Amino acid sequence: MNALFDIDTLVRSNIKTIKPYASARDEYKDLRSDMMFLDANENPFENGVNRYPDPQQTALKQRLADIKKIPQSQILLGNGSDEVLDLIFRAFCEPNCDNIITLPPTYGMYSVLADINAVENIEVPLNSLDFQPKVDDVLRASNEQTKLLFLCSPNNPTANSFDASKIEKLISNFKGIVVIDEAYIDFSKNESWLNRINEFPNLIVTQTLSKAYGLAGIRLGVCYASVEIISVLNKIKPPYNVNELTQERALKQLNNLNEVKEQIQSLLESRKRIIEALKPISFIDKIYPSDANFILIKVDNATERYNQLIKKGIVVRNRTNQLGCENCLRITVGTKEENNKLIQALKSIA
Ligand SMILES: *Cc1c(COP(=O)(O)O)cnc(C)c1O
Repeated sequence: MNALFDIDTLVRSNIKTIKPYASARDEYKDLRSDMMFLDANENPFENGVNRYPDPQQTALKQRLADIKKIPQSQILLGNGSDEVLDLIFRAFCEPNCDNIITLPPTYGMYSVLADINAVENIEVPLNSLDFQPKVDDVLRASNEQTKLLFLCSPNNPTANSFDASKIEKLISNFKGIVVIDEAYIDFSKNESWLNRINEFPNLIVTQTLSKAYGLAGIRLGVCYASVEIISVLNKIKPPYNVNELTQERALKQLNNLNEVKEQIQSLLESRKRIIEALKPISFIDKIYPSDANFILIKVDNATERYNQLIKKGIVVRNRTNQLGCENCLRITVGTKEENNKLIQALKSIA
């Protein structure tokens, strides 16, 4: 519990009083086959997608609710987690007035979204030794105008998870909303904070189908929070933000969890194999521990090594310009065949 938290003081005043757009599908929800739908100016000739999609994505949310054991009223879906994160900014951060805290090096979208929404981004760097949050520094950096704290765990690009005790201390003492971005949670040995969402009224957990679930192309992000927070976000989301094809494809994947689990298992084994294979390579100075489907390595000269890999047809991510990531490359775990080629290429340029 966080005694300092009061959602009413955090929601922007214009959002509190906003009247959401009421779509045709909101007014008449029950798509019974014995009814005629002449209410939404759709083309009546059936082709599978001629009707507007369910604005509340009921079937998909119900499946997620069953899997994650959380009520639908605590779930919001978006066009990728990027849309979900943007909605969070727009609900809680007054442009040119409020600020957020991020812990670099981390996911680049938080600062991009802060810029787009004219919100100041206060950066409190992670500990340079182990990329853990400096809890006291974060709490000290917060002021009256601080609305959101972004914790990416497992973190991109450093690949580590933050210590649970540090995260708990932050959630319990931060006056605003803590957003834990769990895009990589399915690759982690740590428990999701979703399991404790009802203990913390100021906690938002975001996840995505873009990584472990193999559906980056359909754009589906998931947000879990208290009923109060979800209601606020629901008021401002675009009515049909998750399209019909996405809802259908996501549901299909969520009904095929065995395949997802097998792929995760295979990627975790590959991650281990790549790390072992990279250890003897002379120009790799450090392989950071990974709780995600990618590996961060420190090399002698990241830009030179990056270009050598490009010449061999392999694209990795050069993170050398990120704070604390000098000469670091971020490498995604691929198929077994791709990983073999990667290992061969790294050996050959050594
Ligand atoms: C990849 C990634 C996401 C995913 O974003 P989507 O919009 O859902 O594809 C979110 N957060 C982090 C930290 C990521 O690395």
